[in-house]
Amino acid sequence: MGDKIKIGVSACLLGHKVRFDGGHKHDRFITDTLGQHMDFFPVCPEVEVGFPVPRESLRLVGNPENPRLKTTKTDEDHTEGMLNWAHTRVRELEKEKLCGFIFKSKSPSSGMERVKVYSEKGMPQKIGVGIFARAFMDHFPLIPVEEEGRLHDPKLRENFIESIFALKKWRETTEKDQSLGSLVDFHTRQKLLLLSHSPVHYRNMGKLVAEGKKYSRDELFSRYETQLLETLKLKTTLKKNINVLQHILGYFKTQLSADEKQEVLEIIGQYRIGNVPLIVPITLLNHFVRKYQEPYLMKQTYLNPHPVDLKLRNHV
Ligand code: SF4
Repeated sequence: MGDKIKIGVSACLLGHKVRFDGGHKHDRFITDTLGQHMDFFPVCPEVEVGFPVPRESLRLVGNPENPRLKTTKTDEDHTEGMLNWAHTRVRELEKEKLCGFIFKSKSPSSGMERVKVYSEKGMPQKIGVGIFARAFMDHFPLIPVEEEGRLHDPKLRENFIESIFALKKWRETTEKDQSLGSLVDFHTRQKLLLLSHSPVHYRNMGKLVAEGKKYSRDELFSRYETQLLETLKLKTTLKKNINVLQHILGYFKTQLSADEKQEVLEIIGQYRIGNVPLIVPITLLNHFVRKYQEPYLMKQTYLNPHPVDLKLRNHV
């Protein structure tokens, strides 16, 4: 892995004092843990659009699909200004090549989901999306996105970070070499990762790569990128991981003794009933991959998708 991964983050989560009350919402997991592997590109829609700090708070009002952004007490409507700024800003962000975005939850500007939208009578419903977050997700529909609160869920966290690392690898590959050979090599390395997200997409992507000569290079890479990001959006599950672990075990038919195979099966069984996290069978299988130098498995991203110090597979 080369440079750090660049992701966008709502500026208040990085500790910037940009909130309506002059404070911040510094998230230590983002800055202290993810910060060891990622560079952050801060965005504060409300400050960038021209609001002062401190300022009157804002809220979404009206139709949840197309809400107005209004000040809470004085009822001033700032929708057009925010929409115009957001649509310009997302186009500018193309050049930053962000591999993901972490949004501040609940914010009428930055919240990704379940943001309160008030009826004209003042009743809130948690069904809205912040105006900048919506513009970002419409413009970059496949880039991995999450909110800081949802990152406390180990499964969502692992999925999000795994997707970011996979996208970074893909970008590094395409920047270096857009040959069919480099696509085949990339795809070969990701096979088990893809299988852990979606067996159907895994098969479709294999077919796409096998028929790669049918397409122009641009079309092939563009189709592959879309399918890759769509696959990564589908969450891994216990069942899908067990399928991949058993698939890996199949590569050791001749090398492992009956006792060693039994040990792996027992550990997979312990993972199945929730007694051990995913990292346990993965560590055992990695031990055999190294011991027997199994060439196909040694390449597999699935066995080492992100830095161990993030401990992402210790809780899933
Ligand atoms: S939630 Fe968004 S708009 Fe509000 S302070 Fe944070 S970054 Fe700025």
